[in-house]
Amino acid sequence: MRYGFDIGGTKIEMAAYDDRLNQVFCQRVSTPTGDYQQFLSCVKTLVAQADLTLHTRGSIGIGLPGVTDPVSRKQLSVNVPCITGHCLAEDLANTLDRPVAIENDCRCFALSEASTEQTQRHDIVFGVILGTGAGGGLVLHKHLHKGKNGLAGEWGHIPISAQLVQRYDLPLFSCSCGLTGCFERYVSGRGFMALAQHFRHPATSVPELLACYRQGDPLAQRLVGMYIDILASALASLQLMLDVDAFVLGGGVSNMPELYRLLPLAMRAWLFPNSEPAAILSPVFGDSSGVRGAALLEQKAH
Ligand SMILES: [Zn+2]
Repeated sequence: MRYGFDIGGTKIEMAAYDDRLNQVFCQRVSTPTGDYQQFLSCVKTLVAQADLTLHTRGSIGIGLPGVTDPVSRKQLSVNVPCITGHCLAEDLANTLDRPVAIENDCRCFALSEASTEQTQRHDIVFGVILGTGAGGGLVLHKHLHKGKNGLAGEWGHIPISAQLVQRYDLPLFSCSCGLTGCFERYVSGRGFMALAQHFRHPATSVPELLACYRQGDPLAQRLVGMYIDILASALASLQLMLDVDAFVLGGGVSNMPELYRLLPLAMRAWLFPNSEPAAILSPVFGDSSGVRGAALLEQKAH
C-alpha cells in the first residue's frame, strides 16, 4: 500500500493506493502552518488512522510546494512557513518509523500523469504546470528524473529567446528566482496577465482575457497568439533537447481548450521542418495528481 500526501498552505490531502493504483482511502485536514511539532503530529495522526483502517503500514510520499536544499536537506516553503529550515524528510521518517520521500508538487504531478493510460506507451513525459508559476517535471521510463541538484524540470526559468523579444517587442521581466526574462514571467497565469497589462489590455484575470479573445477582441487575439507562440517556443526547445514523447499540461491555464489545438501548430515553427511536435495532452488526474504522484515517489532510506 502506498500513501500520498499533498500538502498545501491551507489543507493536507492524504490518500492511500493499492498495488494497481486504485485509491482506497482518503482524508483531508487543515494544514497546521505555524508550529512544526503540531505539523509533524498532524501527519503522524493521518498515517496512524490509515494504518489502522487498512490494517497495513503504507509507504510514505509527500508532495509540497517549495524546495529541499540538496546539500543541507532543509526545506524551504512559503506556503507552510513552520517547515522552513527543518529536515522534514528525516524528521518525518523518525516520527513515522519508515522511509519518507518528499518532492516538489510539480514533480508529483508529472510522475502521476506519466503513469496513466494515455501515457503508458510513452518513455519520455514532461509535465508542464501553468499555474501561478511555471513548473514541471521530467519522467524518463516512469522514473522521475531529478538531477544532482534537483533542477531537472525547471523549464520555467530558462530565458525567452531574442527572436521572441524582437518579434513582439517584449519587455524583459525580472523573475523572483533572481534571473531575468524567465519563461515563467510570460507563460504562467501571472505571466499571461503581466503581458496583458504591458500591452494595456483591461482584463484583470485569464478567464476574462480569454472571454474577450473568444468574442473577437483584436488585442486579446494578439495577446493569445503571442502567449501561444512564447509557450510553443519553450516546449519546442524541450523537445529538441529531450525528444519528448508527450507534454501533459496542468495548472489553471491548462483548462484553456484552445491550447491543445494551437500549441502543436505553433510548435512546428520552432522545430525542424519535418519533425512532428510532441503530443500535447490534458491531464487525466489534474488536481488529484499531486497526491497520486506523491504516492508514486520512490522511497529511499535517509
Ligand atoms: Zn526565474
